Amino acid sequence: MADTMVDTRWVYAFGGGGADGDASMKNLLGGKGANLAEMSSLGLPVPPGFTITTEACVHYYSNAQVYPASLDGQVEAGLRRVEELTGKTFGDAANPLLVSVRSGARASMPGMMDTVLNLGLNDQTVEGLAALAGDRRFAFDSYRRFIQMYSNVVLGLDHHMFEEILDEHKDRLDVTVDTALTAEGWEAVVGDYKKAVERELGHPFPQDPQAQLWGAISAVFASWMNDRAKFYRRMHDIPESWGTAVNVQSMVFGNMGETSATGVAFTRNPSTGQNRLYGEFLINAQGEDVVAGIRTPQALTQIAREEMGDKNPSMEEALPEVFTQFKGVVEKLESHYSDMQDIEFTVERGRLYMLQTRNGKRTAKAALKIAVDLANEGVITHKEAVMRVEPASLDQLLHPTIDPKSPRNVIAAGLPASPGAATGKVVFTAEDAEHQGAAGESVILVREETSPEDIRGMDAARGIVTARGGMTSHAAVVARGMGRPCVSGAGEIRIDHKAEVFVTRGQTIKAGDIITIDGSTGEVLLGAAKMVEPELSGDFATLMGWADESRRLKVRANAETAVDARTARQFGAEGIGLCRTEHMFFDPDRIAAVREMILADDEAGRRLALAKILPMQRQDFVELFGIMEGLPVTIRLLDPPLHEFLPHTEEEVAAVAAATGLDADKLLNRAREMHEVNPMLGHRGCRLGVSYPEIYEMQVQAIIEAACEVAASGRPAPIPEIMHPLVAKGEEMKFLRELTDRTAKAVIAEKGCEIEYMVGTMVELPRAALRAADLAENAEFFSFGTNDLTQTTFGISRDDSGRFLNAYIDKGIFEKDPFVTLDQEGVGDLIRIAAERGRSVRPNVKLGICGEHGGDPASITFCESVGLDYVSCSAYRVPIARLAAAQAAIGVMEKDR
Ligand code: PEP
Ligand code: MG
Repeated sequence: MADTMVDTRWVYAFGGGGADGDASMKNLLGGKGANLAEMSSLGLPVPPGFTITTEACVHYYSNAQVYPASLDGQVEAGLRRVEELTGKTFGDAANPLLVSVRSGARASMPGMMDTVLNLGLNDQTVEGLAALAGDRRFAFDSYRRFIQMYSNVVLGLDHHMFEEILDEHKDRLDVTVDTALTAEGWEAVVGDYKKAVERELGHPFPQDPQAQLWGAISAVFASWMNDRAKFYRRMHDIPESWGTAVNVQSMVFGNMGETSATGVAFTRNPSTGQNRLYGEFLINAQGEDVVAGIRTPQALTQIAREEMGDKNPSMEEALPEVFTQFKGVVEKLESHYSDMQDIEFTVERGRLYMLQTRNGKRTAKAALKIAVDLANEGVITHKEAVMRVEPASLDQLLHPTIDPKSPRNVIAAGLPASPGAATGKVVFTAEDAEHQGAAGESVILVREETSPEDIRGMDAARGIVTARGGMTSHAAVVARGMGRPCVSGAGEIRIDHKAEVFVTRGQTIKAGDIITIDGSTGEVLLGAAKMVEPELSGDFATLMGWADESRRLKVRANAETAVDARTARQFGAEGIGLCRTEHMFFDPDRIAAVREMILADDEAGRRLALAKILPMQRQDFVELFGIMEGLPVTIRLLDPPLHEFLPHTEEEVAAVAAATGLDADKLLNRAREMHEVNPMLGHRGCRLGVSYPEIYEMQVQAIIEAACEVAASGRPAPIPEIMHPLVAKGEEMKFLRELTDRTAKAVIAEKGCEIEYMVGTMVELPRAALRAADLAENAEFFSFGTNDLTQTTFGISRDDSGRFLNAYIDKGIFEKDPFVTLDQEGVGDLIRIAAERGRSVRPNVKLGICGEHGGDPASITFCESVGLDYVSCSAYRVPIARLAAAQAAIGVMEKDR
């Protein structure tokens, strides 16, 4: 009987025209290992080697840092194979095999983990290498590099110590550059390096190649847990449990004279996407010299050299034969992987070796161009092209951004509340922003936090900074809607309004000083920065078209002004998912009538004031319906507490009293009377409509009259969707439904027009979600208001959470800010329950989302999985949502296949 106890395979070989693994085995072999195997199988010249699997690393960490028992033997066998293929022997004094030992995780973590080169050198093998290469200087230079790297990475010694020793030797020999050192010079350096190691550690530098190898393997495993790697993993959501693989590969030398070289290449330009080989190389150098910046690398192609005006020859000119071979290899690699490749190579005495290939990192602009070009070249399908672009990265393309080459003098950091960048003079009040903005100045509004009264100042400003507030604070939501860059919750900023300055990181910034804000990173910079303008036609439009071919979810916009609505349409919105009518109440032309309404003693007084607001509201809706040309428009009736519309300070009260002829004391008293301890849970939402039905009646009347007017003018008839905010109970919904129908029907009868309309509700309270069946009796649609739903589910204030959420994220309690990315477990469960219970009563209940999550790609994937009908987000996020919705739909199709 065959032995069923098959030992786990920890080591996979590659090179010599074949491999044990392939590109699909990234999880086991890491990205580098899997691609080395794939390149070997393609018959490309890969120096032979082997990969120790990520599973070995996982085993090592879950077993008190002990290797699997059979690893030793498998590594030994791997090494024997490399010896056979290279004809060299590890540790052999006459014909030594030298290897590199490199990390290689599943996801690329550039520079985060450790590497050792030239391993296998010792006092004997260095002589063998010198004889083989016929170059003693090269051999001792390699040996000193190895001692330096190994001592640093494996033995934990500071590399400065070695640099100082080297500097002493250069001083002694009176030379300034490394290349001036002779063989004797390097030999002397090696001697001093070894003495320094022995002095520091109390034992000599390890001479046994086997001991060196296991030391390096352990160091690579250990580097998985170093602080840099941990930090990088957290930033990029890479699980610790993945572990890293270790690649042991025979060395090839780019520093064996003038026919040797080493370099890096991208098959297309990673910053512009241009379809042209891009990269650099150095003659007579080892890999680290290219990145170390000591010597200036040369261009690969002649055309690039000419464009750069570089005098040094390109690879195409210096090594023409190898270049032709290399060009063939990179073309093969790109078409094999169907994507732009990032490649490392070495030329040893005129022979080309491929050391790495992977899908290259690229800017958003390049990602877009490369995806569209590859599809047009027939290499990938439209759907694949759609999957190639990160939706969130489109932000970089929709707004002006800071030129990556521009210096950044960061003076404060907060939340990246609204993307894009802007430069302007500091102002501290909305009035100043308005005045200076009207005078043609570019200004940045810096506030503790913003409130609805600041709206015009925010509109006049190029960008907004707040010291307080989270990602769904007023400033953040409004700025995103307007497409203004915004940094919110920059807690280190201290504003002194009297002195008209803010203080941050020990610097005082005065009103009128120039700052730049980067709403995509949350940074505030001193001075002006160079900007890059967005480009919305061309490749962008093409990819968006392809995305729309695959998308199931509709994408609407949150918009209430004509400007927002036009922007939304320009970005491809298929309707308005949330028109917050309160914004219309703040208009300075209306605020007097609004205040009169609030201050009225009885219903009759309120109705009188409301009659003044009615024509203005109607006009707003006529304009919106006109712009949206028959697309659905969801209008939400008044939501915020009324006291927000009242003046607060004595000066404001005096100004209102003077303007309206109302009594200042009465105004102040009423404002005090209406003060609420917790307005978020106070007299807001449909509670207003229940207490003062005449307000909602006026709004419904304005909506239906506007719809009739637009239809009568021969334009496409609007289908208004009238939405009630903050509903919690079936009885509330019934009351609101009756109010809406009664009012709407009266208008329709009076005008004799045929307008269809829908009545629905926000679902933004846990009770509403749980009792969705009750609401569905009278609601034809639900729109998930996930800002309030997140706030009320967690019991965390959407305005104040910025102050403490970071602690939660740092401690890993929250993976992400739940106001940015939907908490699928809790809030998501409520959405699922609401959808299910709502459909049980009204199978065709229309379902959408209009909280800020409607523009977040991960949350959109969730919306697809629940089968919502649409997502609604601020105008500038519409393209992101279109792409994310397409990717979610393609993801579902692929899963079903
Ligand atoms: C919500 O709560 O998610 C919502 C869209 O309403 P608002 O942000 O206006 O409270
Ligand atoms: Mg809400």
